[in-house]
Amino acid sequence: MEFIDLKAQYVALKGEIDRRIAAVLDHGQYILGPEVQELEALLANFAGVEHAIGVGNGTDALQLALMALEIGPGDAVFTSAFSFVASAEVISLVGATPVFVDIDASSYNISPEALADSITAVLSAGRLKPKAVIGVDMFGLPADYPALTAVSEGYGIAVIEDGAQSFGASIDGRRSGSFGVLAATSFFPAKPLGCYGDGGAVFTNDDRLADVVKSLRVHGKGRDKYDNVRIGMNSRLDTIQAAILLAKMQVFDQELDRRREIAKIYGESLREKYVVPESAAGYVSAWAQYTVRPRYENRDRVISNLRDRGVPTAIYYGKPLHLQTAFAKLMPKSDGCPVAEKISTEVLSLPMHPYMSEEDLEEIIAALI
Ligand SMILES: *Cc1c(COP(=O)(O)O)cnc(C)c1O
Repeated sequence: MEFIDLKAQYVALKGEIDRRIAAVLDHGQYILGPEVQELEALLANFAGVEHAIGVGNGTDALQLALMALEIGPGDAVFTSAFSFVASAEVISLVGATPVFVDIDASSYNISPEALADSITAVLSAGRLKPKAVIGVDMFGLPADYPALTAVSEGYGIAVIEDGAQSFGASIDGRRSGSFGVLAATSFFPAKPLGCYGDGGAVFTNDDRLADVVKSLRVHGKGRDKYDNVRIGMNSRLDTIQAAILLAKMQVFDQELDRRREIAKIYGESLREKYVVPESAAGYVSAWAQYTVRPRYENRDRVISNLRDRGVPTAIYYGKPLHLQTAFAKLMPKSDGCPVAEKISTEVLSLPMHPYMSEEDLEEIIAALI
């Protein structure tokens, strides 16, 4: 049994994926070839935004969003304490200061109330200028962008969506990639829409910011490719990866449906013994991960019992960001993020992918119960 079965997906889509890759090898435009533009148009349309810009990976997508907003030294950027390190790393990489905000215990996403408190604390300390908040769509469930926007607006703080785990998710029919002034996603193989290497995209409705990101991904190029008008990066989505994603987009809606179906069965079967994910009304997760918390049993015992029965699990995330060695000096221990700290000792992610067989699903549930 696989935690995420990429091979089963390849077997199902082999014809189309191979055909798409072969087409790239035939035309030979490996950097920003026609498949990249074709995919960008498809992604923008899917997310319901004006611009999707293919970049090297999800981390770069976030960094490019910060660079496009000219965020740097002296700026505070708020983000969730419960996330993959990339959500905070990029803030430090542009020279700004990450401010870790506690999460909501039911969505695992950044708490708008805690954000309001953090903004007030940063302003009263007077050392940093609050510039942006990166909302992270944990496990595929969008953060509460309406509330994050309401909290941020009055302070002129930009909202950025870290949709690395949530491509295909939505709030009231509005899709991931459309929240905030800029959004980022990742095509890392294990994400809901994954390629066969590294890949990512930046989304925006703002024509000027889209132009800036397109310049930044090619070393800050100007109109003339050899006149660099700003300091940029080398971060483009490979043409071959775009070709693979085009093949996968043909079945992406069906895959999302199947993920939703599996999540529903998990939820109904496990609710009694585990705290299972619940989405607020109007919220649809992309189910990058299915994460539970044992109500009565010790987490390590559940994991070892599952391992004995051949069921792989993972812990996302066992250490909140403000406690990571690289960031620990940023937040006084006395402040902390108590919800993130507690939840990180309880969470456990189960196998989740659209090619899971009914037998495997039954086996996992039986083992968990
Ligand atoms: C995976 C991930 C990223 C980074 O994406 P990469 O493509 O691996 O660089 C950023 N944020 C979150 C929340 C992620 O899960």
